[in-house]
Amino acid sequence: MKYCQGTNCHTYDTKDRKKGSKDNKRNETRKRTNFYYGGGNFCSLNCQTDWFNTHGDNAINYFGRVESPIVLVEANAWQQIYNRECRDNSYNLIEGVPQTIDYNIITKATRPTSEGN
Ligand SMILES: [Zn+2]
Repeated sequence: MKYCQGTNCHTYDTKDRKKGSKDNKRNETRKRTNFYYGGGNFCSLNCQTDWFNTHGDNAINYFGRVESPIVLVEANAWQQIYNRECRDNSYNLIEGVPQTIDYNIITKATRPTSEGN
């Protein structure tokens, strides 16, 4: 079990956050075996956003703020994309035609996929 990392998780008023009885009533941060947001750290997008609003600047500064553009040039612009020519008019796969090709975002060139598939 782990706790949602949202800084305001306990302030969202839902039944599952309510704990204690009569003289000990409180709302608590959600605890689950698994969360679906923020790499399994947050119970909701709201909680993820709350965390970022609280800690985002510090985290970015700590791990390295982007201070100049990250550049895409021909050499690192290859992406594997779906090969539209791998199926016939009935949408059946054509034997021997690969399902993916490499596409260069900068030059718009294509080449056979380099890795597997
Ligand atoms: Zn939460």
